Amino acid sequence: MGSESKRGKGRGKESGKRGVSRRAVLIGAGAVVVGTGVLARDELKRVWWRMPGMAKPRKEGEIDHVGAEWTSASRANWRLADRPDDYGVDRVIIHVVQGSYLTALKVFKDPGHGAAAHYVVRKDGHVAQMIRELDVAFHAGNRSYNERSIGIEHEGFVDRPAGFTDAMYRASAQLTADICARYEIPVDREHIIGHVEVPGTDHTDPGPHWDWNRYLALVRAALPTARKAAEAAEAAEAAEAAEASRARSDRA
Ligand SMILES: [Zn+2]
Repeated sequence: MGSESKRGKGRGKESGKRGVSRRAVLIGAGAVVVGTGVLARDELKRVWWRMPGMAKPRKEGEIDHVGAEWTSASRANWRLADRPDDYGVDRVIIHVVQGSYLTALKVFKDPGHGAAAHYVVRKDGHVAQMIRELDVAFHAGNRSYNERSIGIEHEGFVDRPAGFTDAMYRASAQLTADICARYEIPVDREHIIGHVEVPGTDHTDPGPHWDWNRYLALVRAALPTARKAAEAAEAAEAAEAAEASRARSDRA
């Protein structure tokens, strides 16, 4: 785990197997619209794609990775941002909880904890998203690394490699491939790093038993599909923007 952490113009829809690029997938019920001022809902919808991320309506339940379950971290453990428009994202940082999945969720929801990661991966491969990729999560213990990275926690302990299951490696690699495709991050050990490699940290996770060769091979294997999904989402977003532009000129 760690402390203080670009991307995604939020919003979007899940669409079959298609992934998502710079947009969020799956919008839960209760729409919470933030900072909208006097804009009517209808108007807001049309101008949404031109807004900077910080002004965008954020909806409870929006996620960035297909299949993740949204469960929010305490607002005290992350900082509102507009990545990748304000900070570029070029790192994925791998953590190990030193505890269970539920422990991670619990402490990340605790405003006194001072730290939280974007994602938590469970032993059975289940993925929770707790902070939007737009925002800076406090997970690396290094401000500039928090600003440039997405943090992924893994259930388990650094000295218990048996806990690093195949299902967990695969689900995490799928997530990292998705992130790398969406931000065009190279799949190598310079850009996919352990918390231990963050400058100035005293954390040792994910520890010597984390199988980097195996992990990177799984990320590379998942990359072509992730790239296709990212391209499809980009195309959908461009089409939506073009349509919004047409709609505006029709009204003019
Ligand atoms: Zn860590």
